[in-house]
This record gives sequence, C-alpha cells and structure tokens, in this order.
Amino acid sequence: MFQPMNNPVRSSPSSAATVAPSQGDEARWRAVCERAQNDSFVFAVRSTGIYCRPSCPARRPLRDNVRFFDDCGAARAAGFRACKRCDPDGDSLQARHRALVLRACEALAASEVSPSLDELAQQAGLSRYHFHRVFKQAVGMTPHAYGRALRAQRVAQVLGETASVTDALYAAGFNAPSRFYEGAAGLLGMAPALARRGAPGETIRHAMVDSPLGPMLVAATARGVCAVEFGDSAEALLQGLGQRYRAANLVEGDAQFAAWVQQILQHLSEPAQAAALPLDVRGTAFQQQVWRALQQIPLGTTLSYTELAERLGKPQAVRAVARACATNEVAVLVPCHRVLRQDGQLAGYRWGLSRKAELLRREAAANPQQDEDE
Ligand SMILES: [Zn+2]
Repeated sequence: MFQPMNNPVRSSPSSAATVAPSQGDEARWRAVCERAQNDSFVFAVRSTGIYCRPSCPARRPLRDNVRFFDDCGAARAAGFRACKRCDPDGDSLQARHRALVLRACEALAASEVSPSLDELAQQAGLSRYHFHRVFKQAVGMTPHAYGRALRAQRVAQVLGETASVTDALYAAGFNAPSRFYEGAAGLLGMAPALARRGAPGETIRHAMVDSPLGPMLVAATARGVCAVEFGDSAEALLQGLGQRYRAANLVEGDAQFAAWVQQILQHLSEPAQAAALPLDVRGTAFQQQVWRALQQIPLGTTLSYTELAERLGKPQAVRAVARACATNEVAVLVPCHRVLRQDGQLAGYRWGLSRKAELLRREAAANPQQDEDE
C-alpha cells in the first residue's frame, strides 16, 4: 500500500454530497468486505444499479462505486434495483431464524411438559439437527436446557410465594420430586427449599482470616463454599455477607470449616496445590454456565472475555459474560481473575486490580505440572 500512514478522512465530493453524514461508512464497508450477517443497512453499486445485503455472495465491487443506505426504501428512491441473489427486500435469514426460535421459546414456555426436539423442529420446518444448531446459536443453550431453565425459574418464582415445595414442583411442571431435585440443584445452585430470598433458616458458616491478599472472608452453606472475598476491612466484608444472607443464621466456622479455609490459604501461597472444595454458587442458569467455564481455565493461563464468550458458544454475549464474571462471589475457587481484556489489560476485578495482578503473578510463577502434550 502506497498511501501515507496518516491518512486524513477522505471525503470524495461525489459520494459525500448525496449520502448523509458519512460517519460509519468505513465500518459498513468493512462489513461488506467480510460479508457480515448485518441487516442494518444495504449497499448499492453505481456501475450495476443494484443494491445488496452486506452478506451478498456476489463479487465485491470497487469501493468507489459503492453507496450505503439505511434501508431498501432509500436505495430504491435513489434509483437502485434489488439484487436477485441476496434478496435484500425479503426477510433476512437471521430474522427468519429469530422468528422460528422465538416461536419455539414460546412453545416451551407455554407447555407444562416440554415438547420434544422433533416436535419443535417440525414446527419450525427445519431438520432436527439444523433446528438444534439455530436454537443454540440464538439462545445460547440447547432447547432441552432452555426448557429446564424455564421450569427452574418457575419453581423459584413459586417458592417466593408458597410454603410447600411439593406444590411448587407440580406447579412448575416437574413430574416427580426426585427428578426435580436432580435438575434444580444444578440450575438454582441450591436445594429448592432454600431458594427463598435471603436463605431463611439456612446456616452459613464463615471465617475471617489474614491472607497474602489482605483480609479474606470465607463462607459456606451446608452444601459448599458460597463466598470467598477479599477486602480492606473485615467489618465491611462481614456486613456484605450479612446483607446477602439476611435471613440466614450466620455462625462461626467449625473445625471442618477451618480445614477448608486452610486449603484456600494454601492454594493462595502455592497455587499448584489445587483446593478441591464443594461449591454452592447461586445465580441464574447463564451465570452458572459462565462460572463453570471459568473453572475450566487451567492454572497459569488466561483467556479474554471474547474467547470465553466464544467458548460458551455465545460470541455476541461478551458484555453479559463480563458481567457474570464480575458477579462471581467465590474468588480464586471460581477463577474469574484468569479473564483479561482482549488487549491483555487486566480489565476489572471485584476485589481490586492489584489483587488480580498478584493472583496472576503467583499462578504464573507456580509452574503448574501440566502434560506438555496436552
Ligand atoms: Zn446481492
């Protein structure tokens, strides 16, 4: 390329005069070059008189022959005709898929017993395999998992109001309590009876210790560790815990609990010593999914939020993934500190950037014993 590096914004008089502010045109041109599935605009080609979707499979025109329009109507008004290959006036593939998936979601929400994958696919007019893929891409989980999440959500809602767990089970469309407990423990992160706000009647053991990263609060339900938090003041940490579990019975940790705290402390000073403790993390199905993925990032390595979103099959959900990381309450054991910004910057950390940097430094120095050929 022979253009000077510091290229001022070009405004070729012939194109800039007719197209309203040309800001964003470079991004639009990039989308055209990449054949992006983007239906927020169309592009027209002067030499052929035709307008296309950015995703049109036809050969790319010269940049200088291209004009951008916000919609098909504007392109037609300027005298262009619709391309026959990409049919910019018709519904986009994306829009059609979105409509199909929405209809399937409604069907799942409307029925007590989830329709089968075959039924859903048939209704959408797609093959079983294709429907499964389209659904997962749009929703981020399989139709089956979505149906389960819906039911769990209904249970949580009902539990807020009714006293009887059994009533809630049947109200939510679960056939038998045993099946419910299997599914709900994973989705709700707790036994259904405990889903009531503030964890009433639940006993939360906790301890405050000095860690290499400052005051550390560890708390656990009967099911597992529910919080590992760092702070500058023990008082503020305890206050936060009390607010979150305001209806629970907070007690000092016992001997078994002290052993858990020791494991976490040891893991902090020697990261290669994994702390394998039961967890009781509580969040939405999506948060749980993100937190599980965090636990799969090996010691001594990092991912970007973008990579994590891709790994979850949700490349569009980078922000939501970052938010889920930020709401993790179990530091270190759910290693949200192993996620960085795309450019390698540390980005945020709930318990302070210097602690994130220190954790990563310790893990990098730990030289984990991993198989080279993995
Ligand atoms: Zn076209």
